[in-house]
Amino acid sequence: MPQSSRAPAVTVLAGPTSVGKSTLSRHIRTHYPQVHFSVSATTRPPRPGEVHGEDYYFIEPEEFDRLVDEGAFLEWATVHGRHRYGTLRSTVEQALAAGRRVLLEIDLQGARQVRRTMPEAQFVFLAPPTWEDLVARLIGRGTESAQEQQRRLETARIELAAEEEFDVTIINDDVDRAAEELVAQMGFEPTPNA
Ligand code: 5GP
Repeated sequence: MPQSSRAPAVTVLAGPTSVGKSTLSRHIRTHYPQVHFSVSATTRPPRPGEVHGEDYYFIEPEEFDRLVDEGAFLEWATVHGRHRYGTLRSTVEQALAAGRRVLLEIDLQGARQVRRTMPEAQFVFLAPPTWEDLVARLIGRGTESAQEQQRRLETARIELAAEEEFDVTIINDDVDRAAEELVAQMGFEPTPNA
């Protein structure tokens, strides 16, 4: 698959909660094997169907602490005030040494850390088509209390304001189209495998 030599080796994808980042990532993993998707470590327990080493490296909090102390993470963060997630330097370095282009799908705090430690990376913000669209996704099935909904909307407003820190914005209006745009931004031909 042709790669543009000017495209950055590392691309960071971030965006507000509920914008559809994980759906887009899954789509890219399925249809664009030329993209090397970085597998993060997390203290979150696996969900049904998730595979250790494919979706995440599921590790104990003590192991996470040890890796933090060793400086093994390129970035790490506590997401939604609960579990910790981090990108292992070794996984990114191995992929780059093998000549791969790497995609990190991480939260905003993590993206800011990578911006400091790896400024040559490309930073892509995934945005909703409209504020109303994001609200509809956040409120979802309407099972949360009014207070929780309010808290989520407040967080979303703050997260959306981070867009200006990014190099490129991709609107998540359609997963196929957004994936093509992201893959092209990474310097690949945006032609999905079947
Ligand atoms: P989930 O638990 O739903 O798989 O992911 C929750 C959140 O964690 C998502 O916003 C995802 O972007 C973020 N996340 C996943 N891996 C990492 C990582 O390695 N570092 C950081 N900072 N965030 C991550």
